[in-house]
Amino acid sequence: MTDKTERLELLPCPICGKKVSIARTENEVGERWWFITRGTYRTTRCNCRLFLESEKFTCGWNDDYSLECRAKLTDKWNTRAELGSGTCEIALARLVDVAAKVDIDSCAEILECVEAIRKAVKR
Ligand SMILES: [Zn+2]
Repeated sequence: MTDKTERLELLPCPICGKKVSIARTENEVGERWWFITRGTYRTTRCNCRLFLESEKFTCGWNDDYSLECRAKLTDKWNTRAELGSGTCEIALARLVDVAAKVDIDSCAEILECVEAIRKAVKR
């Protein structure tokens, strides 16, 4: 695909840090929408099933309105932390869980990072 929105980069999953991608679907009454889902490659893709959907539309996939919906979805995904610190808090809680399972030196370093991020999101 060579459309103009193809170049918009998606930030990684906020929970696992792995890759996500944009996919498209439509329902039985012809409404279409774009959604964020796990990435393509088995080894690097997110498997958290954390979805985000665009607005629905009925025009062609490559029509301006469709591409606008897709661009807005990408923007929304990439700025999700600004919607509130809830998402970040969930990611941090998960990170603390992971830290508990690794060796003690890495754990201390991870917890330092967690604290730094917590301070940053609570500004
Ligand atoms: Zn994930």
